[in-house]
Amino acid sequence: MDFIKLQSILKEIGEPAFRYRQIKDAFTKQFVLDFKNISTISKSLAEDLAEKISPLSFKAEKILESKDGLSFKALLRLSDGAVIETVLLSPLPGRWSACLSSQVGCSLACRFCATGQGGFRRNLTSEEITDQVLFWKNFFKEKKLAGKFSSLVFMGMGEPFLNWPEVKSALKILIDKEFFNLGSRSISVSTSGIPDGIKNMAREFPQINLAVSLIFPNDRQRSQYMPVNRRFNLNQLKKALTYYFSKTNRKVFFEYVMFKGLNDQAAQADELIEFIKSIEGGAKLIHVNLIRYNAASGGFSPSDAKTTEWFKDYLKWFKDYLNKNKVGATIRKSLGEEIKGACGQLAGNQ
Ligand code: SAH
Ligand code: SF4
Repeated sequence: MDFIKLQSILKEIGEPAFRYRQIKDAFTKQFVLDFKNISTISKSLAEDLAEKISPLSFKAEKILESKDGLSFKALLRLSDGAVIETVLLSPLPGRWSACLSSQVGCSLACRFCATGQGGFRRNLTSEEITDQVLFWKNFFKEKKLAGKFSSLVFMGMGEPFLNWPEVKSALKILIDKEFFNLGSRSISVSTSGIPDGIKNMAREFPQINLAVSLIFPNDRQRSQYMPVNRRFNLNQLKKALTYYFSKTNRKVFFEYVMFKGLNDQAAQADELIEFIKSIEGGAKLIHVNLIRYNAASGGFSPSDAKTTEWFKDYLKWFKDYLNKNKVGATIRKSLGEEIKGACGQLAGNQ
């Protein structure tokens, strides 16, 4: 919903100022997506508005549901014909989370990532980003899904920090009391490790959660599989995180997708621990999420469950050994594999 356009249309047709507030609240607080379902406005105004402005900036072309009913993936056709994907999933019983896209495609070309392999088309506008929230909030309500819609994660298509102006204004609208009024702590932004983006988050949104897709704990492998590391290496990432911790003193999540034989051995566990320990504040504030790899492209295989468990215990053992140095780790459940609906698996070509 383009709220500025809505406001000027209402002014043009001579509606009183409070009308804008009523309609804005129906969208952002009650998640109504059809003017005719807004109980506080007349039928004729609803019809008039429906002709002049569209509540969403895209059309949902397809919605796929996983067999267990715990994840949904929507294919959204944007006004210029481009397609993005966005996901609603339940990572914990009774909890739902929407995984938002920030770009059409991604220019960073990580070799294991379906989005990255598809190339970059364009940035999303802040409206196209916040509309994904409207869309899922409405879907959640209409479908009467059980539980609470509790969080948003920027882990869909694209690198949020390479589209900072639009992502920033979307974040502002999402936490603004006058609009979505969501808690900063219920929102997470994930980056492949863009230092300036991490610093911007520390300054501008210190209460919004930050996740970093570390994936490989040494420059050699990271540069090989994540070309972004050739521009911003681990040392630059370390500096940005040191700055982040000094400003926010908040936890950061390292996303660590487990690849069989590549980054799941003792050598990488040691490197990961060393890297975390080398960052001032890191041992206390970094939490590692071990993620199952959902087969995409590039001939990678997921680590088996036993190795993943071992890797987690190894990190935890260090936590206990170092006592005050907490290198916490958890394994993240894999969801919606058959609909390729895990975050990071979005290709836009189904
Ligand atoms: N560009 C940002 C935001 C996208 S998040 C970033 O990279 O952080 C996408 C997440 O899904 C990243 O953590 C990425 O490592 C992960 N991912 C990508 N492809 C995946 C796959 N096939 N299986 C599991 N996780 C994957
Ligand atoms: Fe882009 Fe993130 Fe995928 Fe890498 S993992 S290609 S940065 S979306």
